This record gives sequence, structure tokens and C-alpha cells, in this order.
Amino acid sequence: MVALVELESLQLAHDLIQTGLRLSIVRGMTRIGTRTLRQWWKDVHGVRPSNGKLPESVLSFIKDKDSAARLSAFAALHRRVNGMNLSAASLLTTWREFQRICGPMDINAAYFAVRDVRARIVMLSKCPVCHAAFIYDVGSRHTGQCPFCDTKVLG
Ligand SMILES: [Zn+2]
Repeated sequence: MVALVELESLQLAHDLIQTGLRLSIVRGMTRIGTRTLRQWWKDVHGVRPSNGKLPESVLSFIKDKDSAARLSAFAALHRRVNGMNLSAASLLTTWREFQRICGPMDINAAYFAVRDVRARIVMLSKCPVCHAAFIYDVGSRHTGQCPFCDTKVLG
């Protein structure tokens, strides 16, 4: 018999595949084998999963002020609900909740936003003017200022 905890992992992995989360990330979060995951992906999406390289950081997904604002909001929501914890369940639950309120979001971008704030690859700073939390990084054109009110933050 499959242990309950294992069953939960299988269910989470299947749900995450449906969201379009890249398989190497699903594998890392659920420890389900690549073969099973690849088969499920094909069943769910009707095509083979991508073998392409993953982006290096959340900054690859921040292309303008709007994406900066949305990913900042997601990272802030995830932190408020889950603290610094990041798991398959926390990602899935927060992503569903976010989409219900704010509309569609690429779950891969959402994952990188949370991962990179945790790993301190980017900072989740608080805007001194509007007090919103936002992803701050000097290295990118759209993350050097608050995407909600345009206040520039001096590094
Ligand atoms: Zn602001």
C-alpha cells in the first residue's frame, strides 16, 4: 500500500504538472521520479515536456512595470501566508489564491519570485512612500524603483 504522505506527493505533483510548472522544479519539490512526471505531462498537455534550460532568476520574468508589480505582489502574499517556507503545497495554494484575485500568472515566474527572495538573490523591500513590498534589485531596469508608485530607491 502506498503511504499517505506518498499519495499526497503524487497528488501535488500531478496538480503542479497541470499548472505548467517545469518538471525539474516539480521533481525537486515532490521527489517523484522523472519518468512518471514526463508521462503525466504528456497525458495532461498532449505534448512532451520542455527540456530547455530554466531561467536563472526571477529577473528573467520581469519585463516591465506590470510584471514587476505582479511578481512583487505574489512574493509578498506567499511570504505573508507561509513565512520563509516554500513547498509544493504552499506554492500551489498561494498561486491559486493569487490567480483568483489578480488573474492569470505563470507559475514558473511565481516559483522563481519566492525562491529568489528566500535565497536573497533579490530583496523584497518595503517602499518608503506607499509601503508596498516589492522586488528590489539594482541589476534590472524595472526593479530599481517601486512598481506601484514609481518611487526610486537608492541602493
Ligand atoms: Zn511605492
